[in-house]
Amino acid sequence: MTATSFVPFADLSIQWREIRERALPDLERLFEASAFCLGPWVTEFETRIASLLGARHAVAVSSGSAALHLAVLAAGIGPGDRVLVPAHSFIGTLWGVIYAGATPVFCDVEPDTGTIDIADAERRIGAGAKAIIPVHLYGQPADMAAVRRFAQRRGLIVIEDVAQAIGASYEGKALGTHGAFGCFSFYPGKNLGGAGEGGLVITDDDGAAASLKMLREHGQAERYVHAHVGFNYRMDGIQGLILNHKLDHLARWTDERRAIAARYDSAFRELPLRLPRARHGDHVFHLYVVRTERRDALRTALDAAGIQTGLHYPVPLHRQPCLKQWATGQDAFPVAEDFAGMGLSLPIFAGMSSGQQDRVITAVRHFFGSQDPLR
Ligand SMILES: *Cc1c(COP(=O)(O)O)cnc(C)c1O
Repeated sequence: MTATSFVPFADLSIQWREIRERALPDLERLFEASAFCLGPWVTEFETRIASLLGARHAVAVSSGSAALHLAVLAAGIGPGDRVLVPAHSFIGTLWGVIYAGATPVFCDVEPDTGTIDIADAERRIGAGAKAIIPVHLYGQPADMAAVRRFAQRRGLIVIEDVAQAIGASYEGKALGTHGAFGCFSFYPGKNLGGAGEGGLVITDDDGAAASLKMLREHGQAERYVHAHVGFNYRMDGIQGLILNHKLDHLARWTDERRAIAARYDSAFRELPLRLPRARHGDHVFHLYVVRTERRDALRTALDAAGIQTGLHYPVPLHRQPCLKQWATGQDAFPVAEDFAGMGLSLPIFAGMSSGQQDRVITAVRHFFGSQDPLR
């Protein structure tokens, strides 16, 4: 394989080249100002994100996992509380639940979307449930109407995990604004990614926003006075700066992801593959995940053709060694197992060339014995 024909799973250097010219002098200013922890660039980012998404408050933190942890704490969740989470997600979804001493209750996911299945949640909820964390997996919304009805009936707080779905919406309203809290990650590979770790919580609740700000900064209500046991979860100034520059391009980058997904959809339509199907709203294609019983063979064939793929996620949460105590004795999770065993993430990223897309399409079609549809 020559270097030029290799198709990476993602290429973040393209984003850097798009912001470089404007970001470099700005970085110079940041270093001159020593604005390393929070500071004006982070504040500007919070203001822009809040207005873009339509939230009253945005609180920037050090990672998506930190965002979820603080949202769980600001929601008043603690020992003895049960929190419903999908069995199929990244593990960062539920660290905060465990850090808070609460009990994660795994729920199966929907066959089309891989997002939390409320009918299954209904069966597993038990007594003492306090919150639910729907995950907008792969960049598409969970069934928020079902989540809302369920949460209202059961008195649950809704904490949205929007780590993979910034910019997607449900019923015309940004994801993250449907629950009490919306939690975002700016891990470099996410649709909006920093130059390191980052995260953010949005909320419309003034009191919760004040708690989040206090908790991210050592629990201090005023300087040197620590009202609560807090954390050092501040966002770095550099992340605020880089994210501001990348935010200028996010809408276009999302359009590019959608266009690539549309090409894949039509090229793979008649193959024996289950394609992504966003049933509940628009999809921003953080990941393009196909499912096939021949997943491992397809992955090997693509690898041999110089095409990098990913698995999101091959071991469901209820089978993670460190989560065993909350999973034993539970009914099976057949749909989560189906995604874990059959899902394959194909390359999709802003700036992916049409030649790279062609190569993925050709290789996938050839694997299934189809001819290239392009020529
Ligand atoms: C990335 C991610 C997280 C955690 O974010 P970090 O910034 O990596 O801590 C949580 N949930 C989901 C679904 C994610 O994809």
